[in-house]
Amino acid sequence: MTSKPITGRCFCGAAQFEVSSAPILKRACWCRDCQYLSCGNASINVVFASGDIVIKGELAEYASVADSGQIIRRRFCPTCGTQMFSEAMSQPGYIVVRVGTLDQPNIAEPTSVIWTASAPDWAWINPHVPRFEKHVEAVQE
Ligand SMILES: [Zn+2]
Ligand SMILES: [Zn+2]
Repeated sequence: MTSKPITGRCFCGAAQFEVSSAPILKRACWCRDCQYLSCGNASINVVFASGDIVIKGELAEYASVADSGQIIRRRFCPTCGTQMFSEAMSQPGYIVVRVGTLDQPNIAEPTSVIWTASAPDWAWINPHVPRFEKHVEAVQE
């Protein structure tokens, strides 16, 4: 547990959130979907227990079938377009938060990298953390 809540917002500030527990996972994802959503790079994500987050503001959403085969719902600010959250429909206990939204991004250094098989040749992938060619854990970005 962290002593202070973890907070964040979208680029324009219309959507905000607060989390009362520490991240369960911190990682980078190079799946093809994340490259679209992250402007060509890996997405950087932290996973929390979904019951520990409070979200304020209107969000738009888009659901699709991920490379893992799971249906993933991704939520974003309809005003500024910032990607904020994703959730696997089969795993309602977890919420994935896009690290770009965090007020404290220093808490989110990835400890693993997934979907490296989908990364472009020029991708920089941290050689000091475990890397996986595809997805390895239950929670999907
Ligand atoms: Zn916004
Ligand atoms: Zn991904």
